[in-house]
Amino acid sequence: MTTSLQYSDVEQAAARIEGAAHRTPVLTSTTFDARANANVFFKCENVQRMGAFKFRGAYNAIARFTDAQRAAGVLTFSSGNHAQAIALSARLAGIRATIIMPKDAPALKVQATKEYGGEVIFYDRYTENREEIGRRLAEERGMTLIPPYDHPDVICGQGTAAKELFENAGPLDVLLVPLGGGGLLAGSALAASGLAPDCKVIGVEPEAGNDGQQSLRKGEIVHIGVPDTIADGAMVTHIGTHNFEVIRRRVDDIVTVSDAQLVETMKFFAERMKMVVEPTGCLGAAAALHGVTQVAGKRVGVLISGGNVDLSRFAQLVGA
Ligand SMILES: *Cc1c(COP(=O)(O)O)cnc(C)c1O
Repeated sequence: MTTSLQYSDVEQAAARIEGAAHRTPVLTSTTFDARANANVFFKCENVQRMGAFKFRGAYNAIARFTDAQRAAGVLTFSSGNHAQAIALSARLAGIRATIIMPKDAPALKVQATKEYGGEVIFYDRYTENREEIGRRLAEERGMTLIPPYDHPDVICGQGTAAKELFENAGPLDVLLVPLGGGGLLAGSALAASGLAPDCKVIGVEPEAGNDGQQSLRKGEIVHIGVPDTIADGAMVTHIGTHNFEVIRRRVDDIVTVSDAQLVETMKFFAERMKMVVEPTGCLGAAAALHGVTQVAGKRVGVLISGGNVDLSRFAQLVGA
């Protein structure tokens, strides 16, 4: 059984996170517009609390906990940004958080998760199943598992970013959304269904991991191996069930960009807009910048999903 999520669910999430999450800025760049030959509006979730949109979904999910759930705490598995989002949201709610992270997660993300007070348990993403570990530990400890994307409250929380973008940027023809497990894309699709019925919603994933594209075309969730890409926030092997239910209903297309195109886009943001954007955060913008999807002459919304990248890694990628 999958729930049929609606725009009204995103509205309720927006009310729950108001005052806790930042209403992030929407920026434009004449240089980017000239290169893309379009009118582009960037929703800057790289300056959201903890550095990514994931705060929205995590906070929304924890805000709905009962007293009994709060007493036992929250548990999750994540390669990075969702870990930080859960750790920070748990701290704000005054509850315990346990986070299962891959051994090779970016150091910055591990460190921030610990600093927010999360208990970190490591696993090997190539040989161990994090969903199994998560379910077992949650049961042993009585904690509530909030997965990074396949959860209605997470999806609706993530959808508030696109809701704000539609409210601030005015009518849009196309919305480009980074895609990993599909929390942000499904939430954005719900926001579009309520606020911008004519806007095309397009997911953008790394070329090395086009499981979302395959899934949309096949009409069923396709599983792949762990993709080899610099977009560490999109190294997922399949999109979620709740996510796919929304995505197949309202998403128009899923396209892919290469790691080289992501690096070009990171450089653009740093040089021209003075912004640090992590590789995964560049997925949507890269599709517009490199003409991967038709944007000429259009009003285009781009979700910049996050900015958490180790500075040394950033320098290495942009060749500084
Ligand atoms: C998690 C994440 C994504 C992918 O989001 P999903 O909801 O898993 O599709 C994209 N960008 C960043 C920065 C992320 O942290």
